[in-house]
Amino acid sequence: MTDTGGSPVAVLGGTFDPVHWGHIRPAVELLQALGLSEVRMVPVSVPPHRSQPRADAALRCRLLRLAVEDVPGLVVDDRELRRAGASYTADTLASLRRDLGPRRPLCFIMGSDAFRGLTQWHRWRELTGLAHLVVTTRGGDAGGGWSDTLAGWLTARRAVNPAELRRSPAGRVWFQPVSQLEISATALRRSLAQGYSVRGLVPDRVWTALSRCRGYGYPQQ
Ligand code: ATP
Repeated sequence: MTDTGGSPVAVLGGTFDPVHWGHIRPAVELLQALGLSEVRMVPVSVPPHRSQPRADAALRCRLLRLAVEDVPGLVVDDRELRRAGASYTADTLASLRRDLGPRRPLCFIMGSDAFRGLTQWHRWRELTGLAHLVVTTRGGDAGGGWSDTLAGWLTARRAVNPAELRRSPAGRVWFQPVSQLEISATALRRSLAQGYSVRGLVPDRVWTALSRCRGYGYPQQ
């Protein structure tokens, strides 16, 4: 098959509670490694699979916009915040597919841990009808440990090289190693609540905003 409708657009969903360099750096690496036209950072409003975010959606989104402001190729897409109820990936990808048209390659980025639990996701079998999956592997975790159902499903879809992501709009699964940064939003929230600085773990503009807003309990009264 020949190349289709342009460079792939990728989606990185997350709670971004708050955004940190561990979100930005892998996105930049994926942009370059896969020749993406952009990575859309999509903050989740009501995550169906985990506890609810500490900060409200408006604050998480504001910090995310500050984080990507000067990073070419990264953009914030707030479509999940504009939709009521739980944010299901299948709905988000269907909405993006409507915007991009049927031919443009679309990639959904997920960590290898999340991929292991894919069969628990709402309408998971529909996802590769809408997008490719790009599974990020970090720090020696090359994937594996999948259920029989997932392993069988993967066999028919696993890409042998990333060029396959450009040759069709959806349907392949590619594993891409990214840098492992020892930063987690959970640890950041804990530090901020205890009154500690997280400078250097988040973009400077995000730190400046965080240190003024009290949204994460910092600075303490
Ligand atoms: P929490 O600690 O609150 O669970 P998180 O940063 O792990 O936060 P999300 O904000 O939902 O969770 O993450 C969005 C995406 O970024 C996910 O795909 C996740 O795998 C990835 N990610 C998060 N932290 C890192 C990191 N340090 N390095 C690489 N990828 C990361």
